[in-house]
Amino acid sequence: MQEITGFIPSTSTPYSEFKAHLGEEVTVKGTIHNIREMSDFAFILLRTARDLIQCVYSPEFSDFRLSPEIAEQSAAKITGKVVTSETRDGSERYELQIHNIELLSVPADIPPVVISKKQINCDLSVNLDYRPVTLRNPKERAIFKIQEGIQRGFREYLQSQNFTEIHSPKINFAGAEGGTNVFKLDYFGKTVYLAQSPQLYKQALVPVYERVFEIAPVFRAEHHDTSRHLNEYISMDFEMGFIDSFTDIMNMETGCLKHIMNLLKTEYAPEIELLKVNVPEITSIPCIRFKDAKELCVKKLKNITDMKDFEPEEEAFLGKWAKQQYNSDFLFVTHYLSKKRPFYTMDDPEDPEVTLSFDLLFRGIEITSGGQRIHDYNMQVEKMKKLGMNPDEFETYLMLHKYGAPPHGGLGLGLERLTMHLLGFKNVRYAAMFPRDINRVSP
Ligand code: ATP
Ligand code: MG
Repeated sequence: MQEITGFIPSTSTPYSEFKAHLGEEVTVKGTIHNIREMSDFAFILLRTARDLIQCVYSPEFSDFRLSPEIAEQSAAKITGKVVTSETRDGSERYELQIHNIELLSVPADIPPVVISKKQINCDLSVNLDYRPVTLRNPKERAIFKIQEGIQRGFREYLQSQNFTEIHSPKINFAGAEGGTNVFKLDYFGKTVYLAQSPQLYKQALVPVYERVFEIAPVFRAEHHDTSRHLNEYISMDFEMGFIDSFTDIMNMETGCLKHIMNLLKTEYAPEIELLKVNVPEITSIPCIRFKDAKELCVKKLKNITDMKDFEPEEEAFLGKWAKQQYNSDFLFVTHYLSKKRPFYTMDDPEDPEVTLSFDLLFRGIEITSGGQRIHDYNMQVEKMKKLGMNPDEFETYLMLHKYGAPPHGGLGLGLERLTMHLLGFKNVRYAAMFPRDINRVSP
């Protein structure tokens, strides 16, 4: 009888172990990324999960001979001797002198886009149309390896701070914050909504676990085609109870971002190097009140008409201002107007026109909104009524307040937005693996 033990024998030597095998024969499994044939020798780049391994073919190395069926994008098992390779910068690199190539599979066709060059050279829309193929390009895949690092850092840091990871439902009877950007869904004849955020559920879990977080997709029916909005994006959310002030939330986010950036610099160094990422140094993040930030914008920029919120140009200006004044890539803007924040936001007891809320700007664009929430039942019901909402429709949500909740608050951080600005992209779609926008639901 065959028994499954959970043990998978290693049949491929990772590049990181090449040094230890210098002069020895090893076998590596991977995809043939690129073949450059010269008159009597050839370079074959083998793409493994995270590396490109240079393999050199010469009839002098063995009896093995290259044949035409060995094509780019074939899955292969290459056996060869590990030798040091010459590099322009004198750094330590290793390559394989090929002794044998065993093909594991061959492609049926050549890729529709050239992916074996350093960079994909096609329009964004073509890149996105062929995503399953274009993501194989090392620079493209590095984007999402870094994105994985961001999520991992978020998760690791919050776990270290005793947060519990949760998953809230994405199909809901009521839209979290209402408004025009909710997707409606026919649910066996009833109208239901796709979650715009995990807001109401993460708050409900504060009296249960005190601190919770979620990394999951959220859905926004953005009716416009902008360079920074997707219709489905990954929201990294947390909510924490027993806060003394809403600055506790900003401190938690700052600690989290420091951890993320350090993790990227250490564990994701190859991708950071490949994409020449300027990873921000964070010691502390400056804060400015919305009112003061608005005054700065009015003084410096022309034609500002909306005094209640920021236009993208104003955020960009504030980003530059924070860099000049504080040498910071980040800026917290606090105390947004009560009128402009959602119904669950706590008003400032010292000035009810404003809220105990904040946005975090990164290099001049919003990446986070957060703040303290209302925890008192009567206060929440009153605020709903003031805003013309019917508290009866929020019976489930209000159980949180009715049956007791500690002072709490939290935030939502857009993963693609953060990735986009970290990597210096002009369009958020570059930072989404399979983006969903007003014109695109495939691949
Ligand atoms: P914006 O003003 O930029 O449209 P918002 O204030 O409506 O964003 P929030 O509800 O505050 O968005 O969402 C929290 C975070 O989620 C934002 O700071 C941003 O990082 C991200 N985010 C919001 N909407 C989108 C979207 N459509 N696509 C990608 N990320 C988004
Ligand atoms: Mg916001």
